[in-house]
Amino acid sequence: MVTRFAPSPTGLLHMGHAYSARMGFEAARAAGGTFLLRIEDIDTSRCKPQFVDAIVEDLRFVGLTFDGPIRKQSEHLSDYAAALETLEQLGVLYPCFCTRAEIAAELAHSQSAPQADPSELPQVYPGRCRDRKRDEVERRLLAGHSYALRLHTERSRELLRSRGQWPLTFTDQHQGTVTVDPALLGDVVLARKEVRTSYHLAVVVDDALQGVTLVTRGQDLLTSTHVHRQLQALLGLPVPEYAHHPLLIDQSGQRLAKRRGSESIRSLIQKGRTADELWASIGLRAPAVI
Ligand code: GLU
Repeated sequence: MVTRFAPSPTGLLHMGHAYSARMGFEAARAAGGTFLLRIEDIDTSRCKPQFVDAIVEDLRFVGLTFDGPIRKQSEHLSDYAAALETLEQLGVLYPCFCTRAEIAAELAHSQSAPQADPSELPQVYPGRCRDRKRDEVERRLLAGHSYALRLHTERSRELLRSRGQWPLTFTDQHQGTVTVDPALLGDVVLARKEVRTSYHLAVVVDDALQGVTLVTRGQDLLTSTHVHRQLQALLGLPVPEYAHHPLLIDQSGQRLAKRRGSESIRSLIQKGRTADELWASIGLRAPAVI
């Protein structure tokens, strides 16, 4: 059993993170397996090295000891570039020249509920660049336009079908067998002109390279697993089991989140809280020291 906790160092951990890490920690410890820490720091504009140090220290403080070396995604970009190259050769990627503003405008135009908060709506790419003529694509590339590489979900499904690999499923310990629905997240971005990877691609490559057998993470990432399963099939990678756990909510019924101002473990430690008190605040006992 190999599990992992894979935070992005864009801020300090709160107890929602510790809870999530605890799921992987417990599963590994119960099975006499390995619990890994992976730092997902490919977004250099948002990730900061001081948060990496804080993550490591805070996990240790609350008793979530991890095994082996820490893998930092920013140090393994060539692994993701190789996977991207394989996908390009399979013909399941296409360059998209749309700006975020253009996509947002198109989505806003087509949404049937204009009063809804756009940040809460699923942002499925409407597909303007999906089937552009080859010479037009060449012209834009030659002119140096910025672009993102998207997964062509339709072509990818046809390819997998022709290999006898469709439909795809994955196993989640809470949901049972889940059938992949490519329409949930649509043609996601797998790389950009300047950054030749993305969260989805790096996670899939790393989980395989690190031999992760059980992926424990919040329910908010369940839709991402529909993308990850497609990538595993395309790249011929092993498929881990999943456990998407419910998210912790605070007294007001809101999920704990950095952007909602949930108090960081760091600040609670500075106020003198012990590890036992931190765990008790979310209704748990501190993990047993082995
Ligand atoms: N890095 C992701 C996050 O911090 C988690 C990725 C994962 O567990 O697959 O939300």
